[in-house]
Amino acid sequence: MQNKPIPYGRQNITEEDIQAVVETLKSDYLTQGPKIIEFEKAFAEYSGSKYAVAVANGTAALHLCALTLGVKEGSKVITTPITFAASANCVRYCGGEVVFADIHPETYLLDINSVKKLLEDAPKGTYSGIIPVDFAGRAVNLEEFKELAKEYDLWIIEDACHAPGGFFNDSNEQRQFCGNGNFADLAIFSFHPVKHIASGEGGMITTNDKDLYKKLLQLRTHGIVKDDNLYKNSIDFAVGSTDQSSGAKTYPGWYMEMQELGYNYRITDFQAALGTSQLKRAEEGLERRREIAQNYYREFQNKPFVKGQSGLFEGHAYHLYIIEVEDRLGLYNFLREQGIFAQIHYIPCHLMPYYRDLGWKEDDLPKAENYYRHCISLPMYPTLSPEDQDMVISKIKEYYSE
Ligand SMILES: *Cc1c(COP(=O)(O)O)cnc(C)c1O
Repeated sequence: MQNKPIPYGRQNITEEDIQAVVETLKSDYLTQGPKIIEFEKAFAEYSGSKYAVAVANGTAALHLCALTLGVKEGSKVITTPITFAASANCVRYCGGEVVFADIHPETYLLDINSVKKLLEDAPKGTYSGIIPVDFAGRAVNLEEFKELAKEYDLWIIEDACHAPGGFFNDSNEQRQFCGNGNFADLAIFSFHPVKHIASGEGGMITTNDKDLYKKLLQLRTHGIVKDDNLYKNSIDFAVGSTDQSSGAKTYPGWYMEMQELGYNYRITDFQAALGTSQLKRAEEGLERRREIAQNYYREFQNKPFVKGQSGLFEGHAYHLYIIEVEDRLGLYNFLREQGIFAQIHYIPCHLMPYYRDLGWKEDDLPKAENYYRHCISLPMYPTLSPEDQDMVISKIKEYYSE
C-alpha cells in the first residue's frame, strides 16, 4: 500500500475546536453546564426548530423519542431496512414491534407507497408511528408523509443523522430543512465522528412541540422533575415533618421528584463545546460535500458499470455518496488493496440475525435486498483532497477497465 489510507468518512478537528474543549475543561462545569444550553440553542437555530435537546448519542435520542411518543408493547412502528440498526432498535427498547417497509430503488429512501400499502391493508389503529430516515443525506419528503400520518393518526420521528443542513422543497417551493419540526413530531441527529458534526459521542433531538420538549428534558435525567408546580407529593411529606402539618408553605430547596422511569442520557459540557465549535463550520462542510458529489456524479454519470448512484439533488447533505455496481465485492477488495476504504451502507436491517429471529426473511423486501447487493459508499468528507478523490475515481475506472 503506497498511499495513506482514505476512509469513507472522517472527522475534522481544528485548533479552534481544541481550544473550545480546553476552555470548558478549565471551567466549573464538566456536565450539564452552559455549553449544553449554547449547543442546543445554536442547533435549534441551524435546523430551524423551536426546541433542541442534546443527549449522549443518536441512539439515546431515538430511545427517548420512542419513549416520549409512548411506544410500548403492542405498538407497531414502520421504518426502512436501509438504515443503521438504531433507527429500528429504539422501538424494540420500548417493547414495540418494528415493521419494515421497502425502499424506493432510485432514492434509496423509505418508499411512501410501500408504507401506504401497509396502512391500507390493516385495520385503522394498527400502527402507531413512522420513522423515515434521511438516508445518505437525502431529505425525505416529510410533507407527503405528514399527510399520510394525519390520515392514519400516526406520529413521525425523522432520523436525520445523515442530513443536518439538508432540505427538500415542499409543494409551495419552500425549503424544509431536516429536523425543522414542521412535519415530524421529533427529529434526531448524531454527532458520531463520521457524521457531519462531531462531538465524540453525542446526539440531538429537535421539535416544535413544547410538551414533548419538556418530557424529553425529564427523561434525559432519570425522569426527575424539579418544579414546585408539578410535584405530586405533599409539601408536608417533602419537608419530612412527622406532625400532621409542618406549617411549611413551599417545598424545601432540596426537594425533587422522580415521576417517570428515565435514564442518564446527558451529554457532557465539553462535548457540547466541541459540537458548537463544529457547528460553526457546518455550512462550509456541506458545500465541500456537495462539490465532491458533483465530481463523482460527473465522472460516473455515463459509465456503463454504474447502475445507479446518489446523483445530484438540491438539498442533499451527502453524508454518503453511493454508487451501485456489478461485482461489488471485487471492487471493494481492489480499492482496499489501494488503501481506499469504501464501505457498505447498509446490510438490510430486517436480515440481521436479531430481526430474522423475529420472523423477517429473505425476499420480504426485494428492493432493499437488491440495493444491498450492489451498493458501495465512496469516500466522502470535507477534508478529502481533490488529489485523493481523483485517485478514488481513477482506481474505480481502472477496476472496470474504463
Ligand atoms: C449514526 C446513526 C444513528 C445512531 O447514532 P449514534 O450517535 O451512533 O448512537 C442512528 N441512525 C442513523 C441513520 C445513523 O447514521
